[in-house]
Amino acid sequence: MYDFSRCKLCGENAAAPKYKLKQMSLYACSNCDFHYIDVLDDFPNEQPRESLLTEKARNFIESKLPQNAIQLKKNLKFVKAHVALSGMHCLDIGSGAGLFPSLLKEAGAVPHGIEPQQIFREFTLKKFQLSIRRELIDDPCWQNEYADYFDVVTLWDTLEHVNFPAETLKAACRVIKPGGHLFLDTPSRDSFFYRASEWSYRFSKGTKPLLLNTLYSPKPYCHKQIFTTAQLWTLLEISGFSVVGRSSFHRSRNKLVVVCRKNAA
Ligand SMILES: [Zn+2]
Repeated sequence: MYDFSRCKLCGENAAAPKYKLKQMSLYACSNCDFHYIDVLDDFPNEQPRESLLTEKARNFIESKLPQNAIQLKKNLKFVKAHVALSGMHCLDIGSGAGLFPSLLKEAGAVPHGIEPQQIFREFTLKKFQLSIRRELIDDPCWQNEYADYFDVVTLWDTLEHVNFPAETLKAACRVIKPGGHLFLDTPSRDSFFYRASEWSYRFSKGTKPLLLNTLYSPKPYCHKQIFTTAQLWTLLEISGFSVVGRSSFHRSRNKLVVVCRKNAA
């Protein structure tokens, strides 16, 4: 069991519950002001079971693809503005229904993917004929066999979902070639909605947390932490990256969309 008073960002024993939300507490660190909930996902080390992809589930996932495609095509544009993708080895961490690996393939890249949810891996195989791995990026199968391997790693809407984002970024850094690119997007804590929700919680003595209950969730694979711009920048730099810049294709102030490069050894 993880001791949540140990900050998931800076590692100091300086965090305490600050906001009482629905079935979770939102912790804040007095050292670095990182915010995260006291919930972690469980990854039972079991072999995949029989197919979960019923006709109904397949139709449901299919129905969500057009909406996701709008965002992911924008993300692909952002990647292409920095990297000529033809022949590049690319790893999409948290590939969901497999749309981004399929776009990478269309763009001439060699796509790889990680997705912990079996139902999405099954969908990806059926729909796009792409085989996605279940092992997370810190697994030895990535860390040993793919060290300094990938030209590009992407984390679309993933960093806010993982149990330990600092460890995830360090593990991602290890599998990228020196000079290779990391792209990611994640919600921003600097957004007006987040700040307004914090004020509302304080002034209502906890009765009106506004969006805090939707920005975070105790359900499996949901949002566990949200970064400020400064926190994300610092974390990327201590993980072995140099931040190149933010996307000019994404105009939302509620999201951080970033490209960085792995430092030379
Ligand atoms: Zn901290």
